[in-house]
Amino acid sequence: TISMDPGAAALLDALHTAGYAAYAVGGCVRDSLLGLVPHDWDLCTSALPQQVIGLFGAQQCIPTGLQHGTVTVKQGGALYEITTFRTEGSYSDGRHPDEVHFVPDVREDLARRDFTINAMAYNEKEGLIDPFGGQDDLKNGILRAVGAPHQRFTEDALRILRLYRFAARFGFALDPATAQAAEELCAHLDCVSAERIEEELAKLLAAPAPAAYLDEKILDVILPELAPEALTAAKPVVDACPAGADNLPVRLAALLLSLGEDGTRRALKRLRCSNACIEETAVLVREYRAGAQSRRAAPAETTIPDLTIYTRHLLGQYGLKTVQRLAALGAAMQPKRAADFERLSKLAERMDADGVCCRVSQLAVNGRDLMAAGIPAGPGLRRVLEALLDSVIREECPNERDALLARAQQISAS
Ligand code: ATP
Ligand code: MG
Repeated sequence: TISMDPGAAALLDALHTAGYAAYAVGGCVRDSLLGLVPHDWDLCTSALPQQVIGLFGAQQCIPTGLQHGTVTVKQGGALYEITTFRTEGSYSDGRHPDEVHFVPDVREDLARRDFTINAMAYNEKEGLIDPFGGQDDLKNGILRAVGAPHQRFTEDALRILRLYRFAARFGFALDPATAQAAEELCAHLDCVSAERIEEELAKLLAAPAPAAYLDEKILDVILPELAPEALTAAKPVVDACPAGADNLPVRLAALLLSLGEDGTRRALKRLRCSNACIEETAVLVREYRAGAQSRRAAPAETTIPDLTIYTRHLLGQYGLKTVQRLAALGAAMQPKRAADFERLSKLAERMDADGVCCRVSQLAVNGRDLMAAGIPAGPGLRRVLEALLDSVIREECPNERDALLARAQQISAS
């Protein structure tokens, strides 16, 4: 049974009362049947976009994709996409179907959808509409194309990547005919826009254990920079990294580590990742590699007193979240040293909570204090502040005003 979201139920009710057919459709039906809480409720209807706007009023509606039949409607503080039943032609620009045709029957709309588990509709009056055996495939844990897989992947090659994305998300197996068509056609992914690929790759990497779904042939098309041996080596590390959308940079870093910082930046730029994601992933790659190098150079026992200094430097430069991501990457890369990385993470958390001085802005003196003490303004001032921070982090000087001012005189005189 499906427990309907109240906002979605109210919208379906209004559409039914006005004489239209209407259903919840796609991901929300699938997730409900799996016993998961859907993150949004998409609706589909026989009403045309203008009729949807007429029914709910222009005030409540955002015309998000009228030419594709989609109107976003505000209801009870949430937003719902209502899309007119449609069929679609091919995606020659790799982004939008060339043409859509509005149709009166929900089954025709379900037939254009990618996988059986995504091609079910539901409303309280009629129950589940499942023309392609989606419910059975859900029970058996199978990803299967709706219709002829070859044709469906030729229409839109992104579906090949979506196949692995959904299989990874739920830990499902691939229907053999669907898997075979995906393998045969995966070169077509090179026609799909980088943005669409990045979105699906990010969702694939958010899965609990994506490694088994990082297909060599597909990765070779979407990330040709990555050597096959490097992919093989990265797979167990990717799985050992924490899951979820928030950890995308950690898993990207695990995957791309062999490319180095510059190679990582180039690959992610080509994929049109967000600048924030590129930056964070590049920092993880750089700092992990730098740390690994110094860990190799230093015997294990000597790293313990250094840990405080190292943690304070990292915390000051990047903030707590990045330090914890770096620790997660380290633990995934070197499971035998997981306890060391756990200590790094815990230490950073405690220092952050205690407001331990890790940045110039946390020093007990600022530039104005130094100038008042006779240290000349200009670029030299910044250098003195940074040297003070370094002394504080190394515990050569307490973070106290008088001690810092005395130290500043020494530094600026030297
Ligand atoms: P998620 O929870 O990840 O959002 P979802 O099932 O809602 O999962 P979306 O990518 O949001 O996935 O797409 C919504 C629905 O639209 C899918 O369930 C599927 O029915 C259909 N769909 C999306 N993209 C395609 C595509 N490229 N080809 C065919 N059908 C698609
Ligand atoms: Mg969705």
